[in-house]
Amino acid sequence: MPMKPLPVKPPPTRSSATQPPAARPAATMLAATNGNRPPAEEEAPRIDPRFACFALEIRPSPIHRWGIYALERIPPRRKVMEYTGERISRRETKRRGEERELHYLFTLNSYWTIDGSVGGSGAEYINHCCEPNLVARIVRERILYFSLREIQPGEELLIDYRFEKKMEEVPCRCGVPGCRGTINLLE
Ligand SMILES: [Zn+2]
Repeated sequence: MPMKPLPVKPPPTRSSATQPPAARPAATMLAATNGNRPPAEEEAPRIDPRFACFALEIRPSPIHRWGIYALERIPPRRKVMEYTGERISRRETKRRGEERELHYLFTLNSYWTIDGSVGGSGAEYINHCCEPNLVARIVRERILYFSLREIQPGEELLIDYRFEKKMEEVPCRCGVPGCRGTINLLE
């Protein structure tokens, strides 16, 4: 199945600065999801160890293409990784969203987006799940992923992408009992 570009919704016009980072809905991250495996000849991406706080590795995921896996036990409420990339404007976000098939765009605030496909730490490969073990928090304009619970060695790291309801609906195949059936929020 060919991957379909996802429309990039312009970030909300209301100022996110009025809300505390923890209360802010997780930013909008776009990555085409169709459950496919990475092509056999595709070299595994790398994790930039400067932005990883635990031993992690990238390997194919049953959810979508590549995934990131813990190689050691991660306690709850610990910083696990930083999502890095090129900081781009609202206009450039829209352009890249329309142009590319795979997106690694994380809305930082009402104007800036981080494009993890340029200078990404590897966190852009963390897949969506409706029952995630990580949560994203914006701390001083940096996107940090924290553990929600204890994570065992060998577990895939997962985050809820929380696409907004009004965005184009993206089906979810995470497979957990509480799966919403869509990466989008239901309300
Ligand atoms: Zn799901």
